[in-house]
Amino acid sequence: MNFEIILATTNKHKLQEVREILSPHKITVYGLNDLNLKVKDVEENGATYAENALIKAKAVQELTTMPIIADDSGLEIIPLDRRPGMFSARYAAEMGGHDKAIAQILDDLKDKDDRSAEFKCDIALVNVEDKPLIFEGIAKGTIATEKMGEGGFGYDPIFISDETKECFAVMGEARKNTVSHRAKALKKLLTYLRINGFIPL
Ligand code: IMP
Repeated sequence: MNFEIILATTNKHKLQEVREILSPHKITVYGLNDLNLKVKDVEENGATYAENALIKAKAVQELTTMPIIADDSGLEIIPLDRRPGMFSARYAAEMGGHDKAIAQILDDLKDKDDRSAEFKCDIALVNVEDKPLIFEGIAKGTIATEKMGEGGFGYDPIFISDETKECFAVMGEARKNTVSHRAKALKKLLTYLRINGFIPL
């Protein structure tokens, strides 16, 4: 039987990415909408990605005893003092969408030689051990000089992976899922589930 887990998100892209990575390992991933779970609005006011991931996971924990994962992620642009970082989603919302946020970032970087950046992701797992567990992933890269590609979501059109030398929005989901911050955090989660007998070796 598959190991069943809830991903605490209503973001279809995230759900799709996580499903692609986990489902080959006998894991069924449900989004909040799949189970009609109405989670109360929580303020993501943690000081770290891990704290915010935990806030999201705990909000769902009030509704179910099923295993839950929640992720919190962001894009840290080194020459912009690691902004927008933990505020990546909020920054895009305040700017009127990711397209506008991206345009502002490209403008902020136009005179900078250093365009290095990191996508970070922390995943919280609850309802498995007594205590929550956190898995972290980092994808290193650079910010492109212009938008490219049609795939992915969020800041994907300007993030070029150090590992593939390709933009996240160009390389396609399957390749993004081998190098992304979320994929790296999920790989650690898979190792944990494997060595603890929740999924086959
Ligand atoms: P979260 O859903 O609160 O973790 O917000 C993460 C935000 O960071 C998203 O809304 C995007 O702006 C950005 N982000 C996180 N992961 C990715 C990714 O894989 N591609 C592009 N943008 C991302």
